[in-house]
Amino acid sequence: MSSPTGFDVAVVGGGLVGTALAYELVTMGARVVLVDRHDAGRATDAGAGILSPESMSVEDASWFALAMGSGEHYRSLVPRLEGDGTRVTGYAVTGLLRVAFREWEDDLFAANLALARDRRVAVEEITPEEARRRFPPLGEMRAAWYSPEAARIDGRSMTAALLDAAIARGLTVVHGGVDDVRTAGGRVTEVLTAGVSTKCDAVVIAGGAWTPALASRLDATIPVLPVRGQIVHLRLEGVATASWPIVSPLLSQYIVPWADGRVAVGATLEPDAGFDARPTAAGMRQLFSEMLRLAPGLAEATFLEVRAGLRPVSADDAPVLGALPGWDNAFVCTGHGANGLLLGPYSAHLVAQLVQGEAPELDLAAFSPARFGPDPSGAQRDA
Ligand SMILES: Cc1cc2nc3c(=O)[nH]c(=O)nc-3n(C[C@H](O)[C@H](O)[C@H](O)COP(=O)(O)OP(=O)(O)OC[C@H]3O[C@@H](n4cnc5c(N)ncnc54)[C@H](O)[C@@H]3O)c2cc1C
Repeated sequence: MSSPTGFDVAVVGGGLVGTALAYELVTMGARVVLVDRHDAGRATDAGAGILSPESMSVEDASWFALAMGSGEHYRSLVPRLEGDGTRVTGYAVTGLLRVAFREWEDDLFAANLALARDRRVAVEEITPEEARRRFPPLGEMRAAWYSPEAARIDGRSMTAALLDAAIARGLTVVHGGVDDVRTAGGRVTEVLTAGVSTKCDAVVIAGGAWTPALASRLDATIPVLPVRGQIVHLRLEGVATASWPIVSPLLSQYIVPWADGRVAVGATLEPDAGFDARPTAAGMRQLFSEMLRLAPGLAEATFLEVRAGLRPVSADDAPVLGALPGWDNAFVCTGHGANGLLLGPYSAHLVAQLVQGEAPELDLAAFSPARFGPDPSGAQRDA
């Protein structure tokens, strides 16, 4: 694919997903422009960073295959970036503790453990005392299991690392919003940013929760909505937290430890907040009260900051990956909801293969935008 005057591909959206796409495409030799508006509420900037496909309770086989592939992809992507001379900070394999601490969670806990064992992922049931040894602030609990392969990633630094590596390979970056597209002969030919046109042979919309607005300019309905999540960051002064595992209760808030005593407690799930990315008192109260029930040892932790982001959640809660109905050079890569830091880079890898005319190494049929119905207008727009 080549264009004498423009780019092979325009990627719209520079969160983790769009940046990973841009990196994959330049690595494959494409000439790529990444256009990003960096809206307030960008999910990547708030994400907790849990990478734990092994502990997921989602039962759909395609979804689980994508999740496991995503965990595997990180294990090769991080060294790949480092091989490119880009240091990745904020990635560590720390393991994850799944805990049940209320009586009514017993059955769910047993089912979750059985599912993990059926899938033959490495998990180990441990005693509450052992769980507290690994994560000392934990209080009383009924049961616990440990997954050694879980990792955490800082979404901001991973995105920055991908961006640096992509720029080193020739990526062009434009700061601004794509407001519209031009088409001719049933193909997208240009993207428009504040009236400035950029020619391209293909476009991929990776705009997170903002994706539907641009997709609608191509008469495509992508049912993705913002679901606000708030997450608080605290510090345990003088405590070495870097190697503590992630704590993931079955039904309430999780805790993600970082280096230097930093722990993140998240997250609220607020589908009615629209595009309002401001943190609220009610959100923080919920986080603090759940946290103190689960881990009373965090009572003396000091407040660092609260982050809020808008998860891009699709109508069936599964990613939306592939060509827009009615177009063969317009693609979408979004809908990763609460799991986009995990799924995003691998989805990007697969969609990059599709954009370049290759068969993706994992069948994407289950994630096709066409599952929501064909182009509702039945017409493509040439303008
Ligand atoms: C509190 C919280 C906790 C989370 N925890 C986890 C977790 O533990 N594990 C996990 O895997 N995931 C987690 N997630 C989910 C994850 O953060 C998201 O799924 C992921 O970051 C989505 O990335 P994205 O690139 O699709 O979207 P975003 O990061 O939202 O980026 C979209 C970008 O596209 C830009 N854009 C949109 N439209 C246009 C346009 N027309 N022109 C130019 N630019 C445009 C926006 O400005 C923005 O910069 C969490 C999310 C939240 C909010």
